[in-house]
Amino acid sequence: LKPPNRTFHCHPRLLASDVYSQYEPVRQGKQEIPKYFNFASDVLDKWSEIEKAGKRPSNPAFWWINGEGEEVKWSFEELGFLSRKVANALTKVCGLQKGDRIVVILPRVPEWWLVTVACMRAGIVLLPGISQLSAKDILYRLQASKATCIITDNTLTSAVDSVASECQFLKTKLIVSKGSREGWLNFTDLYRNQSADHSCVKTRIQDSMIIFFTSGTTGSPKMAEHSQGSLGFRPLLSERYWLDLTPSDVIWSTADTGWIVASLASVFDPWVFGSCIFVHKLPRVESAAVLNTLCRFPIDTVVSAPTLFRMLVQNDLSSYKFMNLKRCVSGGEPLNPEVMEQWKSKTGLDIHEVYGQTEMGIICSVFKGMKVKPGSMGKAAPLYDVQIVDKNANVLPPGQQGEIAVRSRPIKPLGFFSGYVDNPKKTAETERGDFYVTGDRGIMDEDGYFQFIGRDDDIIISSGYRIGPFEVENALIEHAAVAETAVVSSPDPLRGEVEFVRELPKTVTGKIKRNELRKKEWGRI
Ligand code: ATP
Ligand code: MG
Repeated sequence: LKPPNRTFHCHPRLLASDVYSQYEPVRQGKQEIPKYFNFASDVLDKWSEIEKAGKRPSNPAFWWINGEGEEVKWSFEELGFLSRKVANALTKVCGLQKGDRIVVILPRVPEWWLVTVACMRAGIVLLPGISQLSAKDILYRLQASKATCIITDNTLTSAVDSVASECQFLKTKLIVSKGSREGWLNFTDLYRNQSADHSCVKTRIQDSMIIFFTSGTTGSPKMAEHSQGSLGFRPLLSERYWLDLTPSDVIWSTADTGWIVASLASVFDPWVFGSCIFVHKLPRVESAAVLNTLCRFPIDTVVSAPTLFRMLVQNDLSSYKFMNLKRCVSGGEPLNPEVMEQWKSKTGLDIHEVYGQTEMGIICSVFKGMKVKPGSMGKAAPLYDVQIVDKNANVLPPGQQGEIAVRSRPIKPLGFFSGYVDNPKKTAETERGDFYVTGDRGIMDEDGYFQFIGRDDDIIISSGYRIGPFEVENALIEHAAVAETAVVSSPDPLRGEVEFVRELPKTVTGKIKRNELRKKEWGRI
């Protein structure tokens, strides 16, 4: 495989400003945020024009491999051409209209990106799901969302069929497959025959675009609704964003398509900057496959969960020479300083931590060029005023522990979710005074860096002391024989013991389920 041609017609920074520059007055506060915005027509189609004019490096916009020799590369123009056909298939053949909801459960296949962009063009609301879902999980998602259409592949069609009769809103089932199945329309056959003429619908900036199911780490997943503005416009407003990419950069995020990180790191934020989105189908995220990919492809930026870095540092990395890797980003769970130090000593690279939520996108981050403080997840992301607050929403001074919160009044900044779908009560529970409260505890230092203590529910109270599990976990992981740790409360501290297990229970997004461990402990009495 040849790396992409990296000749520039002019400096990439100047190019990025082509899409960026028109929003300069908005960034400076001289102009209001536009009433109407659509990521497909206002960003992707603009990049397509820049590309056509020969003013973008010849990087693909989308570069997919499956590890078995298959490869797909699309320019912005090709992405536009194909996604318009898909938009026509969804609207004309499946009868979907603006505002309708569609559940899309696909592994990391190019079709997921086509559907995502097609939905923006047609104003259809996308509900991504992860491939590990069971029939029961799918039933919950279809019923809760009232989706009228589902797109999935062979692995889940039987599960969908087994519950479809209980989903009264579901009208159309589309399968991404080489074969066919009764009762299902073949996605590829359907869109290939469509015309590539489609005019993107006009969407208001607050129109619903994607509804994400949260990870379900602490209970049933909630449906967090995001808009054209919170996902698509936010990166245009924040100049120094968490990824800080250029059109010549190649970014690879290993996140599953069902998680918000896939949308942020593999759709919106790189494409705002005209960067190349790299995708490896990776049925399982394994060390060898990840390391080989970083050696064979010109990936500049990798985004992953801490569990991957914990896995990678257990390898002998001296035999791997990364082709172009410069920036490593970890988020979704706390990253142990020990893992950060090992990675740095073995690769020479820092791991930049980001902290975020399905509801809020990125809240804190270690930006490019910023000093890395191991054990800290960086400073407040642009647009967000992040503070540590107490029970009464009073702002606490640096050094004092409290709940991590983002100011939401008088003006709710762009980036916030619109609310939990059909659940105003849960939405209201996130509001406290002038703040949105995250449910996580933390401390801010004098320099404005945030340290994660634990989820509010995970804090251990022993003899009146509040103990953050992460602090204890970090001490345990320093031992050479310990790969991963989770610390939870146990009802009788005198009887408590440290337990060694082969594997820790995890959510499908790879997070340790501390609540499950806790239940096990408390179930013993
Ligand atoms: P649910 O809300 O359904 O119980 P969840 O909160 O795990 O699940 P997500 O929205 O995927 O669902 O995850 C957000 C949470 O992940 C944060 O509130 C925080 O607890 C944790 N998190 C994310 N990034 C970091 C980080 N860098 N360090 C520590 N924790 C993090
Ligand atoms: Mg949560």
